[in-house]
Amino acid sequence: MRRVLEILELLLIIDQSGLFSSNFRREFRLSRVRLLPPRLSRAEPAGWPKACLVFHYGFHSLPLPDSRVPTEKRAEPMLRLLQQETMTSIPLVEVRLDPRSRAAVVVAHPDDETLWCGGYILTHPEFLWRIVTLCRAADPDRAPRFRRVLQRLGAEGEMADLDDGPDQAPLPVEQVQETTARLLAGTSYNLILTHGPKGEYTRHRRHEECCQAVVELWRSGGIDAKRLWLFAYEDGCRAYLPRVRNDADRRDVLTGGIWLEKRHLITDLYGFSPDSWEAQCTPREEGFWCFDSAQAADKATLLIARD
Ligand SMILES: [Zn+2]
Repeated sequence: MRRVLEILELLLIIDQSGLFSSNFRREFRLSRVRLLPPRLSRAEPAGWPKACLVFHYGFHSLPLPDSRVPTEKRAEPMLRLLQQETMTSIPLVEVRLDPRSRAAVVVAHPDDETLWCGGYILTHPEFLWRIVTLCRAADPDRAPRFRRVLQRLGAEGEMADLDDGPDQAPLPVEQVQETTARLLAGTSYNLILTHGPKGEYTRHRRHEECCQAVVELWRSGGIDAKRLWLFAYEDGCRAYLPRVRNDADRRDVLTGGIWLEKRHLITDLYGFSPDSWEAQCTPREEGFWCFDSAQAADKATLLIARD
């Protein structure tokens, strides 16, 4: 049985989608589920794509675990997968030795991570960053740009493809929550950053929905995090470009170098022209509301949203 668990853990490590690992984590009661650190994927460029291939094969071909089947039996399809010898092994000990804790950024769109907390990500390489977006996975322009930005930030990540039409029709709460939970599942985070309850400017509904989903999931135990920070910006109902709110718990003025790097991501990697709203806005100062408990975040979010 121990061997089965070791092998399962290895499979879970290469699961970038989270859904697979959260299902199996629950089924096998594994406590040490970890995703592959980007550092290792860079060290083994030949191994990483192969591992992904195996994962995708497994994900689409394996049935979800059935709790009525004994644990050993449920592991069988995964063991068969390993015997196909398409996987490059990654020493578990290397993964376990990585001292960095995990941080995640959950945003509605590719570019939000750079605009609202790009400076913080750039100045905190002590975290293993996972950056996820709720929208635009199928956008042929933004999706590849997002991946290039992730590379520059030394982060790994994933995009979902929720509706992002110009009419901003409200999305079902359950759909936003399920998507968010899937993007973050299987890992515990030291810190999660996401949108503020009223977004950062007037107005994008997806930003607000993203915030509500993360706070609610944290409150209900759907995601595992020690701390949650919400972006704290406002634009005076379009009177000016977004700036840090007066009631932010934390504000960081970026150095010139970091700010230029952030602007470079917006203009050169995302391709926004220097006179675009995004390039003009790129905040030199970043602000956050910071919470250590889900109850506090839940209460504050309600107050801010009503304000
Ligand atoms: Zn956005």
